[in-house]
Amino acid sequence: MGLSEGLIFRNRKVLAEQYIPPELRVRKREATFLVRKLLSRFSEGRAGDVVAIFGSPGRSGIGKTTLTKYVGYKLEELARQRGIRFKFIYTNVYSAPSLYEILTVIAGQLSPRINLKGSSTLEALKAIVDYLYEKSYYVLIAIDEFQNLVNSPKVDDAYLYSLIRIYEQVPPPDGIPRISYLLVASDYLVFSKLRSKMPQIESQITFRQHLEPYRVDELYEILEQRAQLAFYDNAWSPKILEIIASYYGVDGTGIRDGNARRAINALNTAAEYAEFEGSNVIMEEHVRKALSVDSMANVSAQDLEGLSTHELLVLLAVAQHTMRSSEPLTTGRLRQLYKEIAEYYGETPRGHSQFNQYINNLASIGLLNVTPSGKGMRGRTSIIQLPVEIPATALYEVVEEIIKRKTGIGVRNWI
Ligand code: ADP
Repeated sequence: MGLSEGLIFRNRKVLAEQYIPPELRVRKREATFLVRKLLSRFSEGRAGDVVAIFGSPGRSGIGKTTLTKYVGYKLEELARQRGIRFKFIYTNVYSAPSLYEILTVIAGQLSPRINLKGSSTLEALKAIVDYLYEKSYYVLIAIDEFQNLVNSPKVDDAYLYSLIRIYEQVPPPDGIPRISYLLVASDYLVFSKLRSKMPQIESQITFRQHLEPYRVDELYEILEQRAQLAFYDNAWSPKILEIIASYYGVDGTGIRDGNARRAINALNTAAEYAEFEGSNVIMEEHVRKALSVDSMANVSAQDLEGLSTHELLVLLAVAQHTMRSSEPLTTGRLRQLYKEIAEYYGETPRGHSQFNQYINNLASIGLLNVTPSGKGMRGRTSIIQLPVEIPATALYEVVEEIIKRKTGIGVRNWI
């Protein structure tokens, strides 16, 4: 056991953001399909595919980059075995936001011999095509965050067109297309944008792979693979992975965003809590703490700061009830709790209709869930709950801080 690795971690790097597992247990089908498809084209001497990988609006951490890099590295390995000269080139529009920068990354990864200084876009493209021809190299060029390139006012459509339809501009001397593209975009909106701006590029896309947010069982497999590689065997249990997977899985019971990045981070944070406490096992309480810290990231500090003192008092009352009791919270009971808390802070509780208005406002910005009460309750009352993704304790602490600041009153411990 290395000193720096401690009681839990066998290998911390496995949980790092950039880590690509040696084998994709989830998205295996998609990876195998893409690898086969592209490899056969190189073997037949007819590259030139444009493949798109994309997700859904607002979803990230769903494996777009991972699948892309995995396919690229796998192709390099298989091409080597088959004696095909092939290189995978990964570019990301965040770090290379213009066409020139992308071309520089491509040239830089191909050979230090290709010098683009002072070249026009067309000359740069020609230098790359010529180099590939001379060396008989095939390349797969991945352009990640491609939507930013399409949406950027700084990128000239004509240049983007010449990059993707490179062989129209610079035909290869021997007529063999050697460049394929993997365009990685956040969601399908990029296609409608392309269709209206550059239909010729849209029609060039030969295959589209849509990726869905991860389900609970998929996240479980992803986490299990990381746990096996990152931790000592006795430091983790399937139970802790289940909790995390069902918290993030789209078909689960937590925040359901299907984001593997957040799930892996939560596992890492839980392991760090365990380690910090000198434990040699990651326990449920470590996981719960990690999830609660992560989910507060869902609540915008700006939303909370923008609330009136009385809205904050209502929210505090809901958080307090949730922490203390599993009984459903009716509007009547909440009103009572709100009154007590308001008085404690030296505020005059507002009347009935104001109180209802606060609840409506909090519900409209997603800080409360309001549902009509079920059978067994008298009258037409509603049940007030915190959304599942908002942890009561963490919310309580944050709201209490803000109220303290707003009212200038020090806080007695209510719990
Ligand atoms: P996206 O590009 O969709 O935002 P990423 O590919 O960057 O998502 O994935 C986010 C994190 O989740 C990365 O750390 C990645 O290693 C991990 N991950 C995503 N999909 C998988 C998968 N199928 N198998 C293993 N790890 C995955």
